[in-house]
Amino acid sequence: MDKAPPHVLIFPFPAQGHINSMLRLANMLCLAGIQVTFLNTDHTHHRLLRSNPDLLAARPGIRFRTISDDLQPDHPRSTALVMDLYDSLRSVTKPLLRAMLAGSGRRAESDDAVTCIVADGILSFAIDVANEVGIPIVAFRTASACSFWAFFCGPALEAGGEFPFEDDADMDHPIKSIPGMEAFLRHRDLPSFFRVKQLNDRLLQAVLSETQNASKASGFILNTFEDLEGPILSHIRAHFPTTYAIGPLHAHLKYRLTESVDSLPNSSLWTEDRTCMTWLDSQPNKSVLYVSFGSFTVITRDELLEFWHGLVNSHTRFLWVIRPDLVDGRGDEGQIPSELREAADERGCFVGWAPQEDVLAHSAIGGFLTHSGWNSTLESVCAGVPMICWPFFVDQQINSRYVGEVWKVGLDMKDRCDRRTVEMMIKELMEGKREELVRSTARIANLAKRSVSQGGSSYMNFEKLAEDIRSMSQRFIRLM
Ligand code: UDP
Repeated sequence: MDKAPPHVLIFPFPAQGHINSMLRLANMLCLAGIQVTFLNTDHTHHRLLRSNPDLLAARPGIRFRTISDDLQPDHPRSTALVMDLYDSLRSVTKPLLRAMLAGSGRRAESDDAVTCIVADGILSFAIDVANEVGIPIVAFRTASACSFWAFFCGPALEAGGEFPFEDDADMDHPIKSIPGMEAFLRHRDLPSFFRVKQLNDRLLQAVLSETQNASKASGFILNTFEDLEGPILSHIRAHFPTTYAIGPLHAHLKYRLTESVDSLPNSSLWTEDRTCMTWLDSQPNKSVLYVSFGSFTVITRDELLEFWHGLVNSHTRFLWVIRPDLVDGRGDEGQIPSELREAADERGCFVGWAPQEDVLAHSAIGGFLTHSGWNSTLESVCAGVPMICWPFFVDQQINSRYVGEVWKVGLDMKDRCDRRTVEMMIKELMEGKREELVRSTARIANLAKRSVSQGGSSYMNFEKLAEDIRSMSQRFIRLM
């Protein structure tokens, strides 16, 4: 047997942003006639089905399988405990994956054989397993190219004496050891994992080694586009020659879908509250600030109050996503002063989880106060909505620098969270700097649109990826 129909196993890290972008890719591969199996942890799959009972019916060409992450069902799998999840995936899920793939190898004569794996770029144990069982693997890092490059240059930062930095270091000091970013990167813009005192910090070490390990895969996917991160992609390609920049994936998938966009599967881990769409319908054009900090960010009660004061004092209408687990130690509604609550009720709307893409596309939305997660950043840019960035962790610190200083599609509020600053930033975004920000956001939105349209760079890069996946199946030879 030296030939099998192309069949890709997609394995995301079990977190919202990773699942969203990898499910978008799964749909695109499916539309290209490639069979897809989407592998979720049991826990994530259960949550997905609970919030989207139609998930399995949404695209019949995608099959779902599950695998254990070996944590107790009530483990919070939260930001603070992310290392538990990571360790458990590496120690327990890895051998389960090996057994699953070895089983797939034995069925190579059937249509079921997995001929290629697309694994999350922070799950490099999947690369080791794939290489052991002889299945080609492509790594997909779901964050920005600029953050990946910063992590890749971690050893250079250390060699250049720019990391680790002292407690009293000037956070505005320029960073010179990351090629391509010398003109604008400061200490405070490095991915948050670099804000540690020791190079041997476990989280930092994990990300640095995942970054280096990506080179063991036969290809590398990024959810970005040449017109946005071209200079950084050139640096990356010097080390990862087969890099496919195929984003923004949400826009790319929409372009390729021939059916109505409503047929897209919803991949939220929380149940979407669509009542906010009706509320938006009754708001004036471009008058509402959308406030959301994504799926992982946790804020303190003090920060919640500062945002609340800033929003109310700005007199701007707002739609605020307050996830049940957003506030550290759970939000106590009683702590919000009644005058703030009343003012907020007058011109604000609160939901636990929003249909974000639809919200950003609504004509009432004029700005986005965001944590600068990569999906949120791309979704905002494509919708032509300028941002205020309040980054929380990982890639968000560097994303927000690019938003504010390089792409000029928003204002960077990192490391500040006081009511005066929040109010001032909102006024600048919605009034003072509105025109110039909207102009540059529209320019980048157009570039994004062009890149995913027929003949565009992301469109062509995806065609190449699909072709490479098909040719992998043609030379697929069962090794076991
Ligand atoms: N999202 C959503 N509703 C919300 C908040 C977020 O659908 O109320 C989606 C958002 O559209 C994005 C993802 O969740 O696709 C968050 O990913 P991102 O990379 O922005 O941040 P993360 O959650 O990974 O920090």
